[in-house]
Amino acid sequence: MAKQRLVVLGGGESGIGSAVLGKVKGLDVFLSDNGQIKPDFKKTLEQFDIPFEECGHTKSAILNADEVVKSPGIPEDNPLVLLIKENRIPIISEIEFAGRYDTAKKICITGSNGKTTTTSLIYYMLKNAGLNVGLAGNIGKSYAYQVATEKFDYYVIELSSFQLDGMYKFKADIAILMNITPDHLDRYEFQMQNYVNAKFRITQNLTKKECFVFCADDPITAKELDKIVLTAKKLPFTQKDKVEQGAFIDEDKLYVRYEDDEYSMYMKELALPGKHNLYNQMAAAIAAKVVDIDNKVIRESLMSFQGVEHRLEKVLTVKSVLYVNDSKATNVDAAWYALDSMTTPVVWIAGGKDKGNDYSQLYELVKNKVRVLICMGLHNEKLHQCFADKVDKIIDVTSAKDAVAVAYKYAKPGDTVLLSPCCASFDLFKNYEDRGEQFKQAVKEL
Ligand code: ADP
Repeated sequence: MAKQRLVVLGGGESGIGSAVLGKVKGLDVFLSDNGQIKPDFKKTLEQFDIPFEECGHTKSAILNADEVVKSPGIPEDNPLVLLIKENRIPIISEIEFAGRYDTAKKICITGSNGKTTTTSLIYYMLKNAGLNVGLAGNIGKSYAYQVATEKFDYYVIELSSFQLDGMYKFKADIAILMNITPDHLDRYEFQMQNYVNAKFRITQNLTKKECFVFCADDPITAKELDKIVLTAKKLPFTQKDKVEQGAFIDEDKLYVRYEDDEYSMYMKELALPGKHNLYNQMAAAIAAKVVDIDNKVIRESLMSFQGVEHRLEKVLTVKSVLYVNDSKATNVDAAWYALDSMTTPVVWIAGGKDKGNDYSQLYELVKNKVRVLICMGLHNEKLHQCFADKVDKIIDVTSAKDAVAVAYKYAKPGDTVLLSPCCASFDLFKNYEDRGEQFKQAVKEL
C-alpha cells in the first residue's frame, strides 16, 4: 500500500514540527512554503530527510496529498488553500495532527488575552509539582515537534483561534477559555460570531469526563454557553459571585473548589498584579486542582511566579519613576487592564498599527490616571482625536528611544511610565518583542 501523503503548508516553527512528526510516523511528507524558509529550519528538514520547496508552491506536488497540515499564519482565503478545498483534500492544523499521536493529558488554553501568561503559569505549577510536563503552542518548540521527539505525561498547550480553526477530533482534558473580546476580526470576515465559534472549538469533543474552565464574568462567553449543549464539567472563575465549583473571591481571599476539595489563599500573596492577572491565576489554580497538585505547591507557585516578558513587566525605577513594559498589549482590552492596574499617575506610551480600535472603553481610565500620552506610531491622528480632551499633553514620537526620552522629561517622581500600546507593532518594529526590547534598552540607557 502506498504511504499516506502529507503536505505541510508553511515552513515556520509549526510547519517544521508537523513535517518532522509525519516523517517519524512513516508518512510520505512534503513541505511547501511561499516564502523563504529560515536556515535553521532547512537544516532540520534536511536532517530528517524531508523533501521541501520554498519561494513558491508546486500545485502538482500538493494536490496529490491525502491530507494537508496548514500553518496557522496562512489565511483561509489564500488561493492555494481554496484550491486544496476545491479538491476535497482535508486541511487540518498542527495541533489536530499531533494530537493523534499523543496520549498525554492535555491542558489547553485559549482566549483573546491572557493565554501566554496562564499557559506559562500552569506549566510552572506542574513543573514545581514534579510532573513530567511539556509546554507547547505559541511558546518555544512546536507541539508536533515535541510529540515527535519527546514523551511527556502532560502538555500545557496555548491555542490561538487560528490553530483551533483547523481542529476537528482533538480533545482537551482540561479546556480553558480566558475571555473573548474583538481581535483578529480581519481573519473572520469581520463577523464576531465567526471568531466566537473559533474560540469555542476548544470545547468540541469534550465529554462529562473532561473539564471546561471559563470566565463567568465575560459576557460573550456566558451568552454563547447559553446557546450550546456542553456535557463537560463546568468550572467557572469569577470576581463577582461565589460559585460551588471553580474559583471566586470573597473579601480578601481567593477560593478554588473542585469536587469535594477547597483551596484558598490571600489575594495579597499572589505574585501577579492586576484584575486581569487575578483571572489568569484563578484559571491556573483551577487547572492545578483538577490535576490534583498539592495545595502547598499551588500556593508557592502563585506566590513566586515571575510573569512573562513584555506583559506588565517591571523594567526599572529611575529617579522614583517606574517603567513598565506591556508591549504585548496589542488590543484595547489588554491596555484597559494595564491602565486599570496602575496605582500612580501614568505617562502612557501607546500607538502603532491600529486594528480598527474602539478606544471609548479607555476614556474614564485615561481621564483619571494618564498625565501625558506619548503616541509612538506613524499614524497618530486617531489617538489625538480620541484623547485630546482627556489628557493634558499629547506628544508624537517615532521611536522607542524618543518615547522614553520624552517620558523621562515629563514623568514626575512617583509616576509610572507605561508602554501598553493597544496596537500592533508592525509600523515601526519587527514585532511586539522587538518593540518591548527597544523600550527596555532605552530605559536602561537613561
Ligand atoms: P495572549 O497570549 O492571549 O496574547 P498574554 O498573556 O500574552 O496573552 O497577555 C497579552 C496582553 O494582555 C498583555 O498586555 C497582558 O498584560 C494582557 N492580559 C493578560 N491577561 C489578560 C486577561 N486575562 N484579560 C485581559 N488582558 C490580559
